[in-house]
Amino acid sequence: MGILEKFRLDGKKAFVTGGARGIGKSIAQALAEAGADVAIVDMDGETAQQTAGEIAQATGRQTLAVKADVTSPQDVDAMIETVLAAFGRIDAAFCNAGICINVPAEEMTLEQWKKVIDINLTGVFLTAQAAGKVMLKQGGGSIVNTASMSAHIVNVPQPQCAYNASKAGVIMLTKSMAVEWAERNVRVNCISPGYIGTDLTLNSPQLKPLIEQWNAMGPLHRLGRPDELQAIAVYLAGDSSAFTTGSDFVIDGAFTCI
Ligand code: NDP
Repeated sequence: MGILEKFRLDGKKAFVTGGARGIGKSIAQALAEAGADVAIVDMDGETAQQTAGEIAQATGRQTLAVKADVTSPQDVDAMIETVLAAFGRIDAAFCNAGICINVPAEEMTLEQWKKVIDINLTGVFLTAQAAGKVMLKQGGGSIVNTASMSAHIVNVPQPQCAYNASKAGVIMLTKSMAVEWAERNVRVNCISPGYIGTDLTLNSPQLKPLIEQWNAMGPLHRLGRPDELQAIAVYLAGDSSAFTTGSDFVIDGAFTCI
């Protein structure tokens, strides 16, 4: 089989949380282009529906929109049931939903801290655990969590201790699940993007004014685009990455090198 064929995902079934927009949408689009049927999972059910429609139309693949809050075990279990009812199996699970709150550490309320940890870390745990159970039963699968370069460096000038801690947790959670499930053919990896132009950055009143500063610091002097994370997503979802598990892929235009 040639290398390009190895990247095809024909017949695979996938879901992406936070898939309605931003990085998740771009990953879902890429998976469908590579041949997978994809469920778009998001708290924003309406946008998820729109995204699922757009991707189905553009790729001819079967798509599905599922409204779910990844912090709710009931929602996550119901989402898995819906995906299984539609697709019959789950080959690739992208646990990508996440938020950022920028508050100085000394002013951060317990509520703010818990919100970020609940969505970014507990949400990834619940989703990966639920997908993992299905994959262990069916004999294999690939889980890909979205961490961040903020798991490796402390971003400046914005204060975001909860975000940074949550993303560092995602990397260790990824490695732990990868080791526990390796012999049962369930692979778990994560992606650590640098600054990417999405609503989270471009439409945040707090973060948008900082983009020029970030670009001045970064060796490539620009934000990444969501589509620049598509190739790693397709690679990790499919069989060409069969020996890849427990790895974190930093895709940040060399930002963490400086
Ligand atoms: P966006 O804000 O553009 O999209 C995130 C999506 O996740 C939204 O549709 C949002 O829905 C959804 N979401 C939020 N909370 C939940 C929840 N509890 N349950 C289900 N869905 C939820 O973000 P990005 O695409 O930029 O980010 C995606 C991931 O990438 C995040 O984990 C983020 O931390 C990470 N990341 C982003 C970087 C960047 O520079 N953009 C850099 C590094 C990592 P709603 O609109 O309803 O809130």
